Amino acid sequence: MSYTSEQISFIERATERISENPISRLGAITKSTLERNNFVIDAHCHIFDSDCINVSYLATRMISGAPEALKSWVWRLITGEKMGYEKNILSHLELLENLYKNPDLIPDENVDKFIERIETELNSMEVELKTYDNKSTSVFPKRELIIRYRNIIRLLSTKRMSDVYVTFRDRYAINNVINNAYDTDKELVTIVLGMDLNSGWKGSINKSNSQQNDELGKLPQAYPVIPFLPIDPRRADDEGEGNLYNLFLKAFDVDFPSFFGVKCYPSLGYLPSDSRLKPIFEICEKKRIPVLTHCGGESVSTFQNPIIVNRNGIEESISLRPRAARARYLNEPREWLEVLRTHKDLKLCLGHFGSGGAWEDPEDVRAHRIPTIFKMMEEFNVYADFSFNLESQKATDNFINKLTQKNWEGELMRDRTLFGTDFWVILPMSNLNLDQANFIKKIGGLRDNLTNTNILKYLGIDNILNHSKQIENAST
Ligand SMILES: [Zn+2]
Repeated sequence: MSYTSEQISFIERATERISENPISRLGAITKSTLERNNFVIDAHCHIFDSDCINVSYLATRMISGAPEALKSWVWRLITGEKMGYEKNILSHLELLENLYKNPDLIPDENVDKFIERIETELNSMEVELKTYDNKSTSVFPKRELIIRYRNIIRLLSTKRMSDVYVTFRDRYAINNVINNAYDTDKELVTIVLGMDLNSGWKGSINKSNSQQNDELGKLPQAYPVIPFLPIDPRRADDEGEGNLYNLFLKAFDVDFPSFFGVKCYPSLGYLPSDSRLKPIFEICEKKRIPVLTHCGGESVSTFQNPIIVNRNGIEESISLRPRAARARYLNEPREWLEVLRTHKDLKLCLGHFGSGGAWEDPEDVRAHRIPTIFKMMEEFNVYADFSFNLESQKATDNFINKLTQKNWEGELMRDRTLFGTDFWVILPMSNLNLDQANFIKKIGGLRDNLTNTNILKYLGIDNILNHSKQIENAST
């Protein structure tokens, strides 16, 4: 397949305007934090606020995160109405399918109104709870859920990604968890991933993609963060500054690089083998820009049915049923094989390591992803983060069993697995500080591999200490 003239000129400009040294793309604060060499990294974190999402996104997150026993309660919270008997028997996934099929189930309102209504609803639920016995165990999960939802709402309502980041840093970050448990004074570095919901969700988001990128790209000026640019091949068809190639050139320009890596979310409606992404991956390989893709559950996807995608420039229609199957198809790790075969030096991280479900149950529809990922790790520069899955005890235990095995799989994992939380997306279903503390305790001596050395290797900056020593020597 040959490139268009627009793509050729992008490759020429990118070759000229983007540095090959990843260290040069780090913000000064991030760089000095890394150089002090007393840090831990969260490799998978989101700090989008209420203006970066819409009501459907928030509702989707709340439903997929609702404990089984509190499904009807969460439904009432979202729709403002009691869940009828016929919905009471539906599983989470079926409820979600209902929501995707009938978006009208959620009152037509903007995200501020939605949040306001949820707050009122939470207040009245709290009053209801007070009439129960405080010690009743069945009441406890509701109380806990009210606290979590309040925290999420407070976070989102700030409307500034930097505020969301600060709350994360102060209240949920892994360095605090480790420092409390081991009496250390580790600093925090965070990989923050952008999300481009606008392309997949018909422009329903308040802050434009460019606005979000500007905000995210400026964060390293104030905090030790490493931002990843969300990309979507459909933006290659846009004109002007919103055009995929222009966005990319601006984000990584040698004079003022604001981003470090690239984030993909295929289930929003595209394949990694999309011909419009080829020049991007070519530059990522050449300029050592790491790529991270969603490779987990399918709660979030495009509304399209069938989904029309581009595979190597040829249109393909994906009409699997239900919606979750279509989304799963796009998220399959095998869809990356072709990209990896063409770009052997490309660094790719498969977010969520196939999904929590895959780690929980060998019969899960995503379980086959785990051996596929092992093969990819063996053959290519593939890494995987275990983010989001920390909330599942079973997935975590199975993961740690494999991680500590004395065989080739264990060895690969100890070398290629990254620690990440998936903050704030994980908050509805996790007592995050507790889950992180348990995880860190269970991985014991491998803590350094997962929160430090493997992540530096994936980012291509494991030479950072030597690099700064060389500069020091040269200047003295
Ligand atoms: Zn995520």
